[in-house]
Amino acid sequence: MSDQAPATTIIRGATVVTMDAQRGVLRGADIVIRDGLIADVVDGTSSEEGESIDGTEWIVIPGFVDTHRHTWQSAIRHTYGDVDPLSYFREVLAGAGTHYLPQDVYAGTLLGSVSALSAGTTTLLDWAHIQNSPAHADAGIDALRDAGIRAVYGHGWPLTSTGEWTNDSALRHPRDVERLTRTTAGSPLLHVALAARGPEMASADVWRDEVALARELGIRISVHVGAYRHNAAARAVAQYHRAGLLADDMTFVHCSNTSTDELSMIADAGATVSLGVHCELNAMGIGDIPLDRLLSVGIRPSLSGDTETKCSGDMFTQMRALFGYYRSWVGGGHSGVPGPHELTLHDVLEFATLRGAHAVGLGHHIGSITPGKAADLVCIRATDLNIAPVSDPVATVVLGAHEGNVDTVFVAGRRMKSGGRMLHADAGRIVDAARTSQNRLASLGVGR
Ligand SMILES: [Zn+2]
Repeated sequence: MSDQAPATTIIRGATVVTMDAQRGVLRGADIVIRDGLIADVVDGTSSEEGESIDGTEWIVIPGFVDTHRHTWQSAIRHTYGDVDPLSYFREVLAGAGTHYLPQDVYAGTLLGSVSALSAGTTTLLDWAHIQNSPAHADAGIDALRDAGIRAVYGHGWPLTSTGEWTNDSALRHPRDVERLTRTTAGSPLLHVALAARGPEMASADVWRDEVALARELGIRISVHVGAYRHNAAARAVAQYHRAGLLADDMTFVHCSNTSTDELSMIADAGATVSLGVHCELNAMGIGDIPLDRLLSVGIRPSLSGDTETKCSGDMFTQMRALFGYYRSWVGGGHSGVPGPHELTLHDVLEFATLRGAHAVGLGHHIGSITPGKAADLVCIRATDLNIAPVSDPVATVVLGAHEGNVDTVFVAGRRMKSGGRMLHADAGRIVDAARTSQNRLASLGVGR
């Protein structure tokens, strides 16, 4: 089988949820793919010639964009769901993380990113706070490349047991990010961002320097803020604002306890937000998901899988969990903001696709099925027992679909999954390598 995509591929007769405001939902539509891009979306039959793929049983959506995943942890997935979340910080970040070798980073990142692709996530911001050496960074980037996923590598800091990198840290961000930005420049699928510690973890000189470094390199900044109640006191967003540093190249992760006046500052700056919904619901102590407050100030968030140690990483889960959470509380004054802000299933799908694209700085290139954008597509088998017969395709995707319904996945026009099987990844070997890593870490007394 050739690795090269044919010159022109046409998905024929599909139900297409474009997430493009001009196009909406099309039935019996053709999508023309050429040179990795969406060449055309035809409401009817395209006269283009090329390889035809029968899409008549499919709902096609834009690939999901996960804007914050600690992918290096996937080999120890689902080990911290049933315990106090503080043990995650102690045992995974300050514990296991210090023992991670480059091969552990590779094994976890490959497993996490290939399984993300299988579940329709075509773009992943890999939030890699495992920079114990440059070889750790190289291992993460190699894994993302080998997976074939579109990725933003969020370069973080080294993990140690002593907290000097995370407790009012005076240590500046590792300059290795500069090397990675240089060596990945021009890569069609790989970008670099700075995964910052920010005012909650670093001293003022350091967090200001993080922003300056990212801007010097021309890369985006992602930072966790306000996750737990004790984080709120730092008023991290207000500090960025006061320093004149808040801008649209920043993404704020969680914001659960971030004050509403700070959310307004994010909105005014055109910055973006990432909600790690399933983890936020599972981790006791994080508190409210601030969706009503975000909507009240005009922010439409992106979604993320966060850490698979305590939640599911797939985007179907994030969408469903967010919709259910919001609907269960709306009108109940859950966050103290009067009046419900309407939330539709289409909104939630937009968060998982187009809003994610904007939050990783690729809104011009991915996130909707629009001619000229990359052909990052997820084809969902609408005839499967759990979702047929389809009435409203958006409702089908958000309420009913899961990874098992994902028949085919394209990244930049290249087929990564077909007939429900990953084409360029040996699942058995990937899981074996992850198990070896998990066992090695367990032998050191870390993991559960
Ligand atoms: Zn996180």
